Amino acid sequence: MTSIALPELGPATGAAAASTVQAQPLAAAFTRKKLVRPKDRDISQALRRSFQLAFLGLNLWIGIQFYFWVRCIESGTTASVARPAGVEGWLPIEGLMQARYVLLTRQLPRLHPAAFFLFTAFVLSSLLFRKSFCSWLCPVGTLSEFLWKLGRRLFGRNVCFPAWLDLPLRSLKYLLLAFFAYAVGMMSAAAIADFVASPYGIVIDVRMLNFFRFLGPTAALVIAFLVLASLLIQNFWCRHLCPYGALMGLAAALSPLRITRNEGVCIDCGKCAKACPSSLPVDKLLQIRSAECTSCLECVAVCPARDALAMSLTAPRALRRPIPEWIIGAAIGVIFLSLVAYAKWTGHWETRLPEEILHQLILSSRN
Ligand code: SF4
Ligand code: SF4
Repeated sequence: MTSIALPELGPATGAAAASTVQAQPLAAAFTRKKLVRPKDRDISQALRRSFQLAFLGLNLWIGIQFYFWVRCIESGTTASVARPAGVEGWLPIEGLMQARYVLLTRQLPRLHPAAFFLFTAFVLSSLLFRKSFCSWLCPVGTLSEFLWKLGRRLFGRNVCFPAWLDLPLRSLKYLLLAFFAYAVGMMSAAAIADFVASPYGIVIDVRMLNFFRFLGPTAALVIAFLVLASLLIQNFWCRHLCPYGALMGLAAALSPLRITRNEGVCIDCGKCAKACPSSLPVDKLLQIRSAECTSCLECVAVCPARDALAMSLTAPRALRRPIPEWIIGAAIGVIFLSLVAYAKWTGHWETRLPEEILHQLILSSRN
């Protein structure tokens, strides 16, 4: 609950001023702030959507190219398409292992190095722009957003869990993250190198593809359940189960940026809280510190009052400046592209192995 300065309203409100907790609704009722509408049209959602679509398209392209590469190797013909190293972005645990390996040895990995660079780019984006990976880049986040919006259109609303159930469910992703972090944290650099260079580790990406190619009935049921739950519940997977999102949330805790509300011009309409996909009480707080904030800027987009809500640096109010949405988009793009370019330029992007070895390993990965 934020504490606010009450206007001079006479004896009746003087009593209410004794408690700032109770004063807020009273003050809101009596204060008639003049609504000053924003000067410029909000472009944050168009910009974010273009990032989401571009990244979804890129991942589809990578997936299709990877499938054809695997089919060529399986059939024993010389691969007519190259293995897209970007597929390693789908190996977040390998990315975590590689990050630990780099920290321990100060050396870049030789096998699957793209997993390390992509992991680093995504963590950096979230470190700077509060879990922005989830709402700007992640293709699963994009599909999840599409599904709950579709569900809301089909059924008129999304299901909201009561707080007593939502909190323990939200903790599940942190438990999963703790499990993976513990498992990776227990590995020495030599153990990580052995795993990555093992017959299982070399084709771990192909095993992931085979999981979807030869989907068993149990896995199909689980995926169907997740799709249905995502239609009904806002960001079901991201909010409750995704350990990668949990990691991005922890990185976001160190972010120097926050959604900040200027109570002087806020008209207390509550639209921001209603629009927030993470169900955060944006209209009640001065700054959003929650690890659930994904920098989606939906709250900023719907806010009718000029300068009431913005992504800003955490600084004393006099020094605070709103960060325009285009800077967030440009910085996320620069982080991603510069790390990929650096990895390519230094020869740490592709994994190159003889096709005969890959042929053997890929065939055995189907068993
Ligand atoms: S607080 Fe705003 S930016 Fe953060 S998740 Fe909610 S709507 Fe998105
Ligand atoms: S949308 Fe939120 S920040 Fe903007 S005026 Fe309404 S309550 Fe205030």
